[in-house]
Amino acid sequence: MQSLALTTLRDLAARCGLSVLGVTGVEQLQADLERLQGWQQRGLAAGMSYMLRPPELLANPATVVPGARSVITVAIFYDRTPVGPLPAGHGRVARYAWGRDYHKVLRKRLEALADLIRGEVGSGLEARVFSDSVPLLERALGRRAGLGFVGKSTMLILPGKGTFFFLGELLSNLEVQLDELAAEPQRGHCGSCQSCLTECPTQAFVGERVLDAGRCISYLTIEKRGALAEAERRMIGDWLFGCDVCQEVCPFNFVSIKKGRKADVPELGAEAGIGPSLSLEDVLSIRDTASFERRFGGTALMRTKREGLLRNAAVVAANSKAERLEAGLLAASLEDSSAVVRQHALWAYVAITMDAGSSGSGRAVGRLEKALADPALEVAAEARSLLSRLPN
Ligand code: SF4
Ligand code: SF4
Repeated sequence: MQSLALTTLRDLAARCGLSVLGVTGVEQLQADLERLQGWQQRGLAAGMSYMLRPPELLANPATVVPGARSVITVAIFYDRTPVGPLPAGHGRVARYAWGRDYHKVLRKRLEALADLIRGEVGSGLEARVFSDSVPLLERALGRRAGLGFVGKSTMLILPGKGTFFFLGELLSNLEVQLDELAAEPQRGHCGSCQSCLTECPTQAFVGERVLDAGRCISYLTIEKRGALAEAERRMIGDWLFGCDVCQEVCPFNFVSIKKGRKADVPELGAEAGIGPSLSLEDVLSIRDTASFERRFGGTALMRTKREGLLRNAAVVAANSKAERLEAGLLAASLEDSSAVVRQHALWAYVAITMDAGSSGSGRAVGRLEKALADPALEVAAEARSLLSRLPN
């Protein structure tokens, strides 16, 4: 197999809209394997079973694509425009989800890159492309490829560019200068900064580069299925989907945000998708999967499914004391087909009506008494628990 110069690869990547590219070998990521093992053993992965796969698999690109000789790692940036005040009755959406679903966008461009490489080296190129879809330690591979360093926030940081990007990989039998390229260049560090650790609203970091996923808003709003515990409901604040706080406070992102840098490709920009916030009233009124897919198909919000996003919307409504959503919450607590949605809408409805004084308190008690007869045990239990805690 013919080899290609890194500069040629970067030119080809730029033609596919991929602004940053590095190459590394397929050797095991030994230090990262040990770090991952320790993290798993401490029980910090919460409910993410895919993060509990054997570390030897996650840290070993050669087992993912037998015969691979190199890993080409690419980064593609999404919107870094400043975020204005949150409109009343809205919930926040993390930047990565503002545009179209990055999996498809990145995959298409990586496949185009593979075709261009094949055009240079011939049909003997055997390549597979990945974007957050296989068990690979992407950030560690990006670091080893020389793109940047892993900060205390656990994010890969590209000095001068920041953290708001997606990573993708092309594993292939393309030969590269492994000795030189596999060296781990030290390209920056956090220094004495601790902003991500101290500003995280839920204190989810239990150490530098150690995240307790069960406390992270991104995990709670996107990955966690079913009911949220009351403490978790309070923790998500006004985040409807994901959380950007630890990245927003990172000094490596300040310049790009100040300059309002747009996404590298239009599909990842806010205009192509849903943007920085969503109306909670709109979300709460989505009653079936088909409507949900019509609204959010092709975006990362599909990940939560309808139930998860409405659950989050109800919680954010309560946390934001959005009185005008009382009717929407009442309807969701009565009519929604999902017990999880009814449960959280009931909780949020009670929280909001109780804030409205004695008339609200009457409405809350009336609704809770009816909810005792809800066919779902968890909804009836929520009603019982709330009734027992109401002031006399
Ligand atoms: S995403 Fe939000 S909750 Fe999670 S670690 Fe970062 S700041 Fe904390
Ligand atoms: S906020 Fe500070 S400590 Fe955290 S990753 Fe960025 S530079 Fe490092």
